[in-house]
Amino acid sequence: MNGIFAKRCLALSLAAVLAVGVAPAAMAAMAAKKPKVEPAPDYLTNDSHFHLTNYIQEGITLQQQWSHRVTGDGAPTYYLDTDAPLYYYSFTDAYIAQQYLALPPKDRARFDPMITGFNPTDMYAADHIRRVLQTFPGVFSGIGEFSIHKEGRDRAYLEEFRSLLKRHPQTTIIWAHLGVGRVVAPAKGHLDIVEEILNDPAFAHVYFDISWDQAAKYIIATPEATAKTAALINQYPDRFLFCTDEVAPPDQAKYLKVFYQYDPLWALLTTETVQKVRKDNYARLFDAARVKVRAWEKANPAGQ
Ligand SMILES: [Zn+2]
Repeated sequence: MNGIFAKRCLALSLAAVLAVGVAPAAMAAMAAKKPKVEPAPDYLTNDSHFHLTNYIQEGITLQQQWSHRVTGDGAPTYYLDTDAPLYYYSFTDAYIAQQYLALPPKDRARFDPMITGFNPTDMYAADHIRRVLQTFPGVFSGIGEFSIHKEGRDRAYLEEFRSLLKRHPQTTIIWAHLGVGRVVAPAKGHLDIVEEILNDPAFAHVYFDISWDQAAKYIIATPEATAKTAALINQYPDRFLFCTDEVAPPDQAKYLKVFYQYDPLWALLTTETVQKVRKDNYARLFDAARVKVRAWEKANPAGQ
């Protein structure tokens, strides 16, 4: 799946992010800042992972192919509705950029759009990303959410994924959904894998988002699971981000469902940790990403 906008200070609306996924996992990579925004002091949270569009482009960047050969007359609207492959909806970044640029500056300052409409396995994917930045300077802050494998196999690609993370120490990476998926339950010891990464200086550039109702359902499944997760987040409060991973939600109640689903978790986090996970980590990472991307755009204008 994949995401798009990261949003700052939402209390009532939408936002979106970045994340790359490895099979079960999704994570996001980003690069770059924005004019200083003074958020309302009473806002609820930032949202580092949010999709403005869904799998049939009523809002998402990754398009589920409607293959008549696979699903007959029933057109799928969700990526697990079909075995047909996902593909990258090529118009999505241009569409998002146009919508973003049409916003007044004060609203633009509240979003950090990410580039998502590309195939990360294409050898020329990096060229594509450069071209998007040069075509729409001043818009994007990074790339992702993108998935490396459609989910389905537990831990199957963990080692490959870890070595991928290690190869990009200069890239800020957010691993989405804590590495779990709708059909990929956290394997026994999953939090140990997360902790190992948090503990290893080779992964100091790797962060985790706790988005998605499907990840939340595992975290709040039992008091033990919630307590174990809370202990880890309290131990590494700078490395986790709250976000919804909502996909084109129709209203605010649906949009904030995950936020309230996490009530048992919020109750076990320290005040300082809550502040970081909901607000400060997002602001720190995405502000820095904006600065870096704007600088790159300045140094690499179109036509160079
Ligand atoms: Zn997502």
